[in-house]
Amino acid sequence: MAIFPIRTYPDPVLRSPATPVDDIDHDIRRLVDDMFETMHDAPGVGLAAPQIGIPLQVIVFDIGEGPHVMVNPVLLETSGKWTFEEGCLSVPDRYWGLERAGFARARGFDLDGREVEYAGDELLGRVLQHETDHLQGLVILDRLPRRTRKQAMKDIREEEWFRGMP
Ligand code: ZN
Repeated sequence: MAIFPIRTYPDPVLRSPATPVDDIDHDIRRLVDDMFETMHDAPGVGLAAPQIGIPLQVIVFDIGEGPHVMVNPVLLETSGKWTFEEGCLSVPDRYWGLERAGFARARGFDLDGREVEYAGDELLGRVLQHETDHLQGLVILDRLPRRTRKQAMKDIREEEWFRGMP
């Protein structure tokens, strides 16, 4: 297992749609181990493979009830509204009160290739929306209302991690 550096915005790998996994092989299992370790080390409650530079449709999350993985997850359903102070490991040290759906349901596969479904309100619903966004090349900044986003872009330009980008 290894802890990977987390890619930060606007790294192109975060801005491109991820590729579906077609074979859950040894490499995918190792990737998931590395993702769990990287997420727990950060620490964070969720991580998508593109965040460590791997453009595949794999997410992991742990909202305090143990680690879970979803391969090729698809968001099937969202409903309601919930505002939450949301952040992203790829946009470090910044949080925004962001309104998204309160409830979300997603389906994907586990490491044995079995179909798995997760559904929940609040933090679980939020993580499912946030991480599946990453697989479409979307980051939290894309979800902010226009005016907040403008200010956010200004703010992150002052951050060391942003200025360090090529
Ligand atoms: Zn994120």
